[in-house]
Amino acid sequence: MSRKETILYLDGVSVSFDGFRAINNLSLVLGKGEMRAIIGPNGAGKTTMMDIITGKTRPDTGDVYFDGDVDLTKHDEAEIAMMGIGRKFQKPTVFESHTVEDNLVLSLKGPRSIFPALFHRRAAEESERIDEILAVTRLGERRHDLAANLSHGQKQWLEIGMLLAQDPKLLLVDEPVAGMTDAETEETARLLKEISRTHSVVVVEHDMHFVRELGVRVTCLHEGSVLSEGSLDAVSADERVIEVYLGR
Ligand code: ADP
Repeated sequence: MSRKETILYLDGVSVSFDGFRAINNLSLVLGKGEMRAIIGPNGAGKTTMMDIITGKTRPDTGDVYFDGDVDLTKHDEAEIAMMGIGRKFQKPTVFESHTVEDNLVLSLKGPRSIFPALFHRRAAEESERIDEILAVTRLGERRHDLAANLSHGQKQWLEIGMLLAQDPKLLLVDEPVAGMTDAETEETARLLKEISRTHSVVVVEHDMHFVRELGVRVTCLHEGSVLSEGSLDAVSADERVIEVYLGR
């Protein structure tokens, strides 16, 4: 795949903390519109990789490109967020004292127009977008409830909805099903699969049942590099993956 066709292109990326190489010559390529699951043992470098993509950590060496030709190493975290890379951390951080709908409205991208005529049109577009997000996250019936009153799973879906409201090109999602019931896990897989029809997605996850539900290409990291990559069946049959991760 040429770099032009990628949403994310990491090549030969390394980063050290006090002489310790957390990311070691890492290369990872994600096609536009692709969803990828990242697995690997604790300390493999999954979080550091996400930090590099979002500009929180600057690599010592290597290339990091977004959407074909945007060199992310030349931009800071705030600029990268504005470019359309949305990140969801493991713990949900919704505004508990606001309703579900207000959480989504507050997340919409861009300042409100100061021109009233434009504002009306914009408001109509925005409410349509909110309706779409409520439908995809299946939170329509909870739209007027306080976020504080949602279940853990619903808070996670709301936060994913808040990311969608920012209209990102790439979503980075960190362990979305940690602490979820089986039914919530299944629902989260459905939600991410639906989102991946229109967005590129990177999901870091330890729950292999969930990764199987996603049915996407898997990359296993170990010691800051790619240990194995391919279908979940191929990666989980890889002796090296069994040794350092699955066979524990
Ligand atoms: P994972 O998310 O796969 O568990 P991390 O990316 O958090 O792995 O960590 C990779 C390695 O880098 C670990 O050994 C961790 O201790 C180390 N590390 C991560 N961030 C820092 C930091 N800011 N300073 C020192 N070491 C770090």
